[in-house]
Amino acid sequence: MNHVVVVGAGLAGVRSAEALRARGFGGTITLIGEERHRPYDRPPLSKAVLLGDADSSFVDSDLEGMEVEHRAGVSAKGLAEGVVETTEGEMAYDGLVIATGAEPIRLPGEGRQHVLRTLDDALALRAELVPGARVVIIGAGWIGAEVATAARKAGCAVTVLEAGAAPLAHVVGAEVGAETIRWYEGIDLRLNTMVGSVDPGGVSLVGGGSIEADVVVTGIGVRPTIEWLAGSDIDLHNGVVADEHLRTSLPNVVAVGDCAAWWSRRFHTRLRVEHWDTALNAPEVAVASLLGDEAVYDPVPYFWSEQFGHMVQYAGHHAGARLVRRGDPAAAAPVSRWSVCWLTDDDRLAAVLTVNRPRDLVQGRRLIEAGQRLDPGRLADPEVALRDC
Ligand code: FAD
Repeated sequence: MNHVVVVGAGLAGVRSAEALRARGFGGTITLIGEERHRPYDRPPLSKAVLLGDADSSFVDSDLEGMEVEHRAGVSAKGLAEGVVETTEGEMAYDGLVIATGAEPIRLPGEGRQHVLRTLDDALALRAELVPGARVVIIGAGWIGAEVATAARKAGCAVTVLEAGAAPLAHVVGAEVGAETIRWYEGIDLRLNTMVGSVDPGGVSLVGGGSIEADVVVTGIGVRPTIEWLAGSDIDLHNGVVADEHLRTSLPNVVAVGDCAAWWSRRFHTRLRVEHWDTALNAPEVAVASLLGDEAVYDPVPYFWSEQFGHMVQYAGHHAGARLVRRGDPAAAAPVSRWSVCWLTDDDRLAAVLTVNRPRDLVQGRRLIEAGQRLDPGRLADPEVALRDC
């Protein structure tokens, strides 16, 4: 293998280039990325950058020193066997890493709507979060909650419109999500409220009515960036379909990060995880597979969110598992610390969500990895360390 092309210069793309060199790959590496910036991390965009504590979040990676040719401002347009078609012509490869991430879903309408995916998005939004600005945020998911945190801190008049019965309902369920409603103090949070369109001067609601706004932010989720692969022979289904080695249906082509839907040996299902830890760690396995090794990607997925002064962390995959609470979300002294666990039918830990309780997260992640049986009674007692349940 002489030439590896990495498409997508986000975290997963950069980590793929690094992993290739770390494994001793001495051939040519071309990293092509649509954005004109140096590669950067996205989590700080909705936190430090939006709060005004940082102006950028560039990844600390010496691409030049590693002799990685970074082609910024170049997009992949199509894929044929052994060739990537780009905005600057065809590029032949021996190995290909697909790392094109995901892109925000927008709502219909003629009005201006901010989304938050890129550094440019974050800087443009930050400039409009000024005291008194009427900010309407559509979606009380991870991004919506973090944007609301920054907008409230900036002194804006914040309205959050959520189609579900609670914030975060679609990711952790309405019962757990409802425990975060109290964090929205000073914010006009409207649940079960669906926006139909973003119009000049505000938003229109499904079923009638409208809300005026100076700034509208749409945070209703992302979809994998795979349209550029539509005409190729590669299997696509909610992302680039990959096996447990992160190999795709095409020879010498692997997929990583937000765009990859890989087979999870641990959870017996296909997962596509839109979180930083996956972009960080999957590339090592993908690159090993590309270079002919039999590595398996089998993580306990992990992510975190910082919202309204709380550190929220989650590990695992809770589909089909039952909920056990640890601690009282309403208790506030000095800060509220609580967790919820999800148990399988045979009392193994499937997932854990922690609020200001990082120890539960660390121990819980290990317990999920180990597949150990737990005592549900002890688990419900927050005084008992998770590892002793
Ligand atoms: P991306 O970061 O999306 O990078 C893909 C790159 O590929 C992009 O630069 C894109 O322009 C480029 N590209 C796309 N199509 C093409 C093409 N055809 N040709 C060339 N280039 C292309 N995760 C957490 O776990 N915790 C958090 O707190 C958290 N906060 C976040 C906050 C924000 C605002 C955002 C947007 C994400 C956050 N995430 C968080 C998610 C995390 O950042 C992503 O999971 C991670 O960025 C995925 O990395 P990636 O490299 O797979 O994709």
